[in-house]
Amino acid sequence: MTARATPAARVRADACPGALQTHAAADGALARVRVPGGLLTGDQLRSLAAAARDLGDGALELTSRGNVQLRGLAAGAAAELGDRLAAAGLLPSATHERVRNVLASALTGRAGGHVDVRPWVRALDAAVCADPALAALPGRYLATLDDGRGDVAGLGGDVGLLTLSPAEVALTLAGADSGLRAHPDDAVALALAATRAFLAERTAQGGTAWRLAELDDGAIRVGARLDGRRGVAVDVPPVPVPGPVGAAPQHDGRVALVAVVPLGRLDAAQAELLARLADEVQLTSWRSIVVPDLAEDAVDDAAVALHRTGMVFDAASPWTRVTACAGRPGCAKSLADVRADAAAAVATGTLPVDGARQHWAGCERRCGRPQGEVVDVVATGTGYRVGKG
Ligand code: SF4
Repeated sequence: MTARATPAARVRADACPGALQTHAAADGALARVRVPGGLLTGDQLRSLAAAARDLGDGALELTSRGNVQLRGLAAGAAAELGDRLAAAGLLPSATHERVRNVLASALTGRAGGHVDVRPWVRALDAAVCADPALAALPGRYLATLDDGRGDVAGLGGDVGLLTLSPAEVALTLAGADSGLRAHPDDAVALALAATRAFLAERTAQGGTAWRLAELDDGAIRVGARLDGRRGVAVDVPPVPVPGPVGAAPQHDGRVALVAVVPLGRLDAAQAELLARLADEVQLTSWRSIVVPDLAEDAVDDAAVALHRTGMVFDAASPWTRVTACAGRPGCAKSLADVRADAAAAVATGTLPVDGARQHWAGCERRCGRPQGEVVDVVATGTGYRVGKG
């Protein structure tokens, strides 16, 4: 494990929006609803779709952390949104809502992986919400629960579990293996202890860091606060690009469909269609949606119905590699309508770096930029700057 460079000290608390603590955007208030593990029941998806239609701009935005945003909320709509989310089981804790950032392996428990991490998602989230002290975690805190396929461990979670075998789990800190090991049955307890240790170390270092990686020797010092069995540290696998797309056979003989949602914008009608097709869906870090548990003879009809609405099942599609920030008109800082420009470039085959993973942004902040190798396409006011870094 290596020490990481220390960034300039944070001088303010993070301002990550939540479902209750909304962000004032140019197109109205923006609410971010945490969805631990990206796991949503069909009823929850229906509730979100209705809220987007009744209170927002009619769509749900999928984030790279498997969460959901509603935009264009009118003044005063946040209270009604909070009531609706609580009724749908999407707001179990008003005090902890912004810290419930948990990414889980896509398709976990259904196809691939050494273990099913869905019970870990529920147990970790419940334990975090039950501890009043953990409400002090920064809104940027992220836990990654990887079932061994290596799809989320490389996303730089503050705390993570990387399954090495059906009997052994590694604890990752700031996206690197800490060397600490646990049996799968004890893994959530280890992640919870690491989360508390992060908060304690953050407090010891002034309490302003937004991420574990921002602490001085954060991973080393947090790891030193933890007891447990230790092994030889392994390399954390890089995040696969693109993510899974299309049909995936499940362990139980049924089939999961993984649909990419262009620009991560899911309109209410698409969400309602998904809710009709599956009792539970999973949002992924690639802004795609897993539609699981389909009978083999229902897969084609489901794929055709979803494709007609604009969802993508072709791994070769540019939409598996193109992301964009909100841009105009949603963000006052934006120098362009980046989503419209990116969509036009895809439609006309004129992407600036054809074939490369690229993130379009309306300004140099580059919100929503994916982890890893990405070409930036940044609005300048007179065009776009294209390049890395
Ligand atoms: S990158 Fe700039 S323009 Fe885009 S959402 Fe962020 S602040 Fe707004």
